[in-house]
Amino acid sequence: MKSYYTILGCPDYAQPAEIKEAYFRQIRSVHPDKNSNVEQLDDVSSEHLVTLVTKAWHVLRDTHLREKYDIWLREQHLKETRSVIGEEVKLSELEAEEPCRCGGFYDISETDLDQIVDFALIDCAHCSLTLKVFA
Ligand SMILES: [Zn+2]
Repeated sequence: MKSYYTILGCPDYAQPAEIKEAYFRQIRSVHPDKNSNVEQLDDVSSEHLVTLVTKAWHVLRDTHLREKYDIWLREQHLKETRSVIGEEVKLSELEAEEPCRCGGFYDISETDLDQIVDFALIDCAHCSLTLKVFA
């Protein structure tokens, strides 16, 4: 799963100064005006990359937001190894109350949707199935 750390190209234990340095390095390399080597993160457009890099920087530079994000990221990694994916849906097609096969609904929070870079895993509030939401 792609994280804000991956996007900035720094480790998840990076110090604030390293994150700042990583941000400036990335924003220079992805900026459409200055850039010549966009191919480093799959085939997303350079505008999209600028948005992602900016978003990653906005979260990781802020101690509180970073803490919350780290917790979210750990949860996602845990789910990735343990979950049974019930459904897969694109973020743009996600309903406010996404139904689960069990007849219940997935427990979707603002944070989950806000943090999606690649995909997020969301648990059903009623059974053990997990919803995979793609960005
Ligand atoms: Zn369910």
